[in-house]
Amino acid sequence: MKSLQPVRGTHDLLPDAFRRHRHVAGRAKAIAEAYGYLEMATPIFEFTDVFKRTLGDTSDVVSKEMYSFADRGGEEVTLRPENTAGVCRAVMSNGLRQSLPVKFFYDGPMFRYERPQKGRQRQFHQIGVELIGVEGPLGDVEVIALGAHILKGLGILDKTTLELNTLGDQDSRAAYRAVLVDYFTARHAQLSEDSRNRLERNPLRILDSKDEGDRRLVADAPSFQEYLTPAAKDFFAAVTAGLDAVGIAYRINPRLVRGLDYYCHSAFEFTTTELGAQGTVLAGGRYDGLIEMMGGPATPGVGWAAGIERLAMMVADVAPPARAVAVVPVGVAAELEALKLTQSLRHAGFAADLGYSGNLGRRLKRADRIGARVAVILGDDELARGAAMVRDLDTGDQAEVSLSALQDHLARFR
Ligand code: ATP
Ligand code: MG
Repeated sequence: MKSLQPVRGTHDLLPDAFRRHRHVAGRAKAIAEAYGYLEMATPIFEFTDVFKRTLGDTSDVVSKEMYSFADRGGEEVTLRPENTAGVCRAVMSNGLRQSLPVKFFYDGPMFRYERPQKGRQRQFHQIGVELIGVEGPLGDVEVIALGAHILKGLGILDKTTLELNTLGDQDSRAAYRAVLVDYFTARHAQLSEDSRNRLERNPLRILDSKDEGDRRLVADAPSFQEYLTPAAKDFFAAVTAGLDAVGIAYRINPRLVRGLDYYCHSAFEFTTTELGAQGTVLAGGRYDGLIEMMGGPATPGVGWAAGIERLAMMVADVAPPARAVAVVPVGVAAELEALKLTQSLRHAGFAADLGYSGNLGRRLKRADRIGARVAVILGDDELARGAAMVRDLDTGDQAEVSLSALQDHLARFR
C-alpha cells in the first residue's frame, strides 16, 4: 500500500537521526545567541506572493520547486522553500523596522519539489541567521564569522572551504549584465533550454546553472570583478579585510552566484568534498533589495542558511542520552513495588526503565537492548528484607542493597 510509505523525498527522523539533528540545531542556536541572534519562527506556509515576489519568477525555486496550493478559502499559499523572505515579511508585519538592527536565528523545515538524492530532499531542514538593518560590510563579516564559528562548534570547519564572491551593487550588475548577455547571445545555440530562458529574463542566473554544457560556457565567461563600481569594490575589500582581521580563511570564487534574485554584494558558501554532489553546506549573502521587493522601504540585510541534514551527515557521533537504570520485578507480586520504585527514581533525576513483562531473563534482555547501565532486580525475598539486588550490567557484579540506600548506591552509575 503506497500510503504506508512516506511521500517521496521526505524522511522520518528516528531517534538516532533526530539526536544528530537536535545536536546540530542546538549547538548552532547556542553559538548564535552568543552573537546576539535570538531564535524566532515564522509560519511554515505564507502567501505565495511572499516568495514569488522576492525569489523572482525565473528562479529554480519559484519556477519549479514550490509546493503551492489554494487553500479551502481560496488563498494562494506556499510551503516555505526558504526562510529569508518569511523573516523579512515578519519584520514588516510586526513593525520591527522601528528597532533595527534585528538579529534572528531560526531552525525548521523547508519544502522544495526537487529530485531526491543524497543530501537533497523535498522536506529538508535549515538553520539560518538574518541580520537586518546593517548596511556596512561589518555585517557581512559578522554573519560569515558566525557561520564559521558554528561549523567549528560542530567540529567540521576544517572539512569545509569558505568560497566568497561579490555580486556588486545595482550599477555593477547592470554593467555586467549587458556584457553577459552579449557573451551568451553569441553562444546561444550551445546553451541549455533553461539557460536560454534565463538569458532573456535573468542572465546572471546562467552562472548558477547545473547543466554540464552551460558550465563549460560559464567557465570562460567574462568575470564580474572587471565590472564592479569603485563603491562595490570598496565594499568587498572591507569584507575581506574584516575576515582577514579575525583569521577566517576564504577562497575568492568569481563564479559564485546565488540562485535567488535579491542578492547583492557578498555571496558566500561553505562547501565540502565529503558529501558528493551536494557539496554546499551553508550558503548566504547580502539581500539589501529584498524588503523593497515586498513593497516595504529599502532595508539592508545579510544572512545565510545551512542544511541540517547535510551538516548532520558530517558531524561525529553524538552521545546518546544517559544510560538508564532498568527496574526488573521478578514475579507479579513485585510489579507494583517496581512501578513505585521506577517513578521515585525518575523523580530523583535518574533515567529509569520498567521491564514490563516476561520472565527475569526476558526482562534482563530488554535492559541490555536499551543499553541500561545497571539493573535493580526486585524479587520477593529481597523485598521482604526491604532490599533489592543491584547488578552492574557492564561487569556482571551484583550486590544486595537496602531500598533506603538505593539512590545513593545508584548515583555511582550515573
Ligand atoms: P543547491 O545548489 O544545492 O540546490 P541552493 O542554492 O538551492 O542549493 P540554498 O537555497 O542556498 O540552496 O539553501 C541553503 C542550504 O540549504 C544549502 O546549502 C543546503 O545545505 C540546504 N539545502 C537546500 N536545498 C536542499 C534540499 N533540497 N535538501 C537538503 N538540503 C538542502
Ligand atoms: Mg536548489
